[in-house]
Amino acid sequence: MSIKDNFRKIKENLPETVTLVAVSKTKPNESILEAYKAGQRIFGENKVQELVAKYESLPKDIEWHMIGHLQTNKVKFIAPFVHLIHGIDSLKLLEAINKHALSNNRIINVLLQVFIAEEETKFGFSANEIENLLETEEFQKLKNIKVVGLMGMASNTDNKQQIHNEFNGLNILFKKLKTQYSSLTTLSMGMSSDYQIAIKEGSNMVRVGSSIFGDRNYV
Ligand SMILES: *Cc1c(COP(=O)(O)O)cnc(C)c1O
Repeated sequence: MSIKDNFRKIKENLPETVTLVAVSKTKPNESILEAYKAGQRIFGENKVQELVAKYESLPKDIEWHMIGHLQTNKVKFIAPFVHLIHGIDSLKLLEAINKHALSNNRIINVLLQVFIAEEETKFGFSANEIENLLETEEFQKLKNIKVVGLMGMASNTDNKQQIHNEFNGLNILFKKLKTQYSSLTTLSMGMSSDYQIAIKEGSNMVRVGSSIFGDRNYV
């Protein structure tokens, strides 16, 4: 199927309350434009250099999301335009984003990444760390970032029950924090292989790449 057909099929089956981030990493501008022409305006990338190049060459009404691991020394390149940064995993990174948001006279929206998977390699905070972070003075001083929600990635496994459980745990934390912090509105969880499970477990933002654009040759 074409990108347009893939996109339409996914979009038709998404509840209206769920925002679709089309993950275009490694894909050329022509592929992005195909989805753009079919109506998609939110795209996600995981590498700063690629994100900046695509931002510069593609239509300016695209909302760009940074979904990958972000290094503090690269924040300055995306701070002028990035719409949402998904993978925040340290106070140091928040401070760097705040600094560059300030110098661009912006408030940058971010999601805190929560570690929910079994694998050791995935980045993110624990539930406890997030609750502590939100209460620290260092965090509350940061006026040019806005934490709008949480993001998580489930284990890469065929065990559906485990994926359900991991997403459910994140949703429980999200709902709990929402009662104290009204700015938390976004729960980003689910990718091509597991977004349907994620939606059942409360996700309202899914990051879908290969199901729209086809398999990637490299990551
Ligand atoms: C690549 C990526 C996705 C999309 O993965 P697909 O399996 O292609 O849908 C989602 N989230 C993050 C953080 C990614 O790096």
